[in-house]
Amino acid sequence: MNTKPRAAYVHIPFCTQICHYCDFSKVFIKNQPVDDYLRALLEEIRAYEPGPIDTLYIGGGTPSALSAAQLEFLLEGLASIFDISQVQEWTLEANPGDLSQDKIEVMANAGLNRISLGVQTFNDRELRQIGRMHQEKDIYENIDRLKAAGFHNISIDLIYALPNQTMEQVKTNVQKALALDIPHMSLYSLILENHTVFMNRMRRGQLNLPQEDLEVDMFHYIINSLKEAGYDHYEISNFCRPGYESRHNLMYWDNAEYYGLGAGASGYLNGVRYRNHGPIRHYLNAVEAGNARVYEEKLSLKEQMEEELFLGLRKRAGISIQRFEQKFQRSFEEVYGAIVAQMLEEGLLIREGDRLRTSQKGLFLGDTVAERFILE
Ligand code: SF4
Repeated sequence: MNTKPRAAYVHIPFCTQICHYCDFSKVFIKNQPVDDYLRALLEEIRAYEPGPIDTLYIGGGTPSALSAAQLEFLLEGLASIFDISQVQEWTLEANPGDLSQDKIEVMANAGLNRISLGVQTFNDRELRQIGRMHQEKDIYENIDRLKAAGFHNISIDLIYALPNQTMEQVKTNVQKALALDIPHMSLYSLILENHTVFMNRMRRGQLNLPQEDLEVDMFHYIINSLKEAGYDHYEISNFCRPGYESRHNLMYWDNAEYYGLGAGASGYLNGVRYRNHGPIRHYLNAVEAGNARVYEEKLSLKEQMEEELFLGLRKRAGISIQRFEQKFQRSFEEVYGAIVAQMLEEGLLIREGDRLRTSQKGLFLGDTVAERFILE
């Protein structure tokens, strides 16, 4: 029997700027059919006839690029289609500088309870260099306003290993982040993606990125300072005060199913990973024709087991072997015994009772560890 997912990701693909490192599904908002898009989005969701949900995440793009009226239309629409009476976490991604008082009021009235703010760096020169519109002062102003409106579950994203960035600048960013007194932070190193301004500059030899050993030192510094300040490093890139793990993101790493809604969004339903049409016009036409999806893949048992491992091992809590065996009706020892034994010996994994987790060394290696779980 198929059960309905209790989590949903809603994609708002519009931005008021296009950042130099970004390869997400997004377009510049000016002259876009935003109202049509929001109507189509709600129509797509309605067709799923979703039940009660625990987590709802509105990401982008930049959801806060919507006007207060558009935001209100979206949030009221979502609340009327989903049963949000049991919602534990309802997040909206926002860019500093976008959050005017009227938008914050709309968000508070709708019942949102978590804000994820794309801070990236506190350094105005670095912000300009990566193509962001906001300035350091906007970060403080937005956070003050959010707190005054009763939002305390605030997360920020920070990027390190930016072009020309020094260790001193990373230290300053971390100190300023800690001074915000917020319960959650996500820290990512800059990744060069194809079809971005930064990738073009790199190819022309115009991008001076920190060497790999400096990047590793930066990551060590970040981990140690946040830990000292009482944050738990609960996933490769995520840190939180006790009890403030992102429930929605934990759902992904627990390999649970979820609705992926909107242009370019990916979802996981009934054992099928799917992706919606990305370009706005294609998406609008597809919703009108009754199927927003452009790609679907039914996962084999082998693929589901692989995903369970490489998503689960991103969390510091790791995976439960008992849960694996119940879910897949296979002996963990038979499937992964040999590779796990080898990785325990190499110091990449740690076994504690029912739980298998990644060591600090394994955590640094990230995807290299994950790849070892791909079955022949
Ligand atoms: S990083 Fe965010 S704000 Fe910048 S272009 Fe990408 S989606 Fe838009």
